[in-house]
Amino acid sequence: MNKALIAIDKSKSFRVYLAISTSMVEDARKLHNTTPLATAALGRALTGAGLMGLQLKNKQDKLTIQFKGDGPAGEILVTANGAGNVKGYISNPDVDLPLKENGKLDVGGAVGTGTLTVIKDLGLREPYVGKIDLVSGEIGDDLTAYFFLSEQQSSSVALGVRIDTDYTTQAAGGMIIQMLPDAAPESVEELEKLLSEMTPISSLVEEIVRQSAGKTEEAVIDCLLDRIFRTLPEAFAVERLEYRDVKWDCDCSVERLEQVVISIGPKDLTEIIGEDGKAELVCQFCETKYQFDKAHLERLLKESLQREGNV
Ligand code: ZN
Repeated sequence: MNKALIAIDKSKSFRVYLAISTSMVEDARKLHNTTPLATAALGRALTGAGLMGLQLKNKQDKLTIQFKGDGPAGEILVTANGAGNVKGYISNPDVDLPLKENGKLDVGGAVGTGTLTVIKDLGLREPYVGKIDLVSGEIGDDLTAYFFLSEQQSSSVALGVRIDTDYTTQAAGGMIIQMLPDAAPESVEELEKLLSEMTPISSLVEEIVRQSAGKTEEAVIDCLLDRIFRTLPEAFAVERLEYRDVKWDCDCSVERLEQVVISIGPKDLTEIIGEDGKAELVCQFCETKYQFDKAHLERLLKESLQREGNV
């Protein structure tokens, strides 16, 4: 299942963005045919992007997160919009490393050291760009650091993906706790305690979903919210603000890929037409193949020439 919700505590000290993203991560796994390690890395990044998408004001606002490390996973790039549509890819979907000593998948080792870049396109003239050094490559820690360093905001990001014995996605989910400007000091202490003792979110999602057969998605995510925050004092009880959707969605199309072909430029395009007489483009996000025959390419060359003439 996929579902998200936004909540706020009674004292208005913090806001919660919570998501169950099992289906979204499984969709990505199937499209990219990822190893368990790649599923975990990409799945955490997709879930993080989906959660940050919930913070966008407008449905058409967009954000892109790029994890560029020197590890064997290569680059991980994910995007989300304010409507909850998420997509992404990992350069090396075959990445595989030994498990860490604690038995967990070594996402940090797969990503390595490097940079994290967030680009927010909020419909303004210039997009907002924030860039930091990766903290651990574990994705959640890196996004927590991003909020602090780049947005001067105290937020805690938890992300998790659990892989089943048959390598499918058993459970995936994530949470951002965002401190609000007038947060009560005790709320910070209470949350630190809660987070230090919290069961990994993927385990909580697995448990809650398993116990909730027959319940609506809204009821399931309500249970998850209650479960996470049940130990907080009454003063900081969390109250739901709204349910939201979060899902895998690639919006690629022939029209969009045509623009990519046109951007190759007349010189290289003429060469392609002369040498191969056709071209195949693959959407990086969903692996859909787009075929361009000679007549199609010639039409696009014409457009490319026109465009160059206008510059
Ligand atoms: Zn696509």
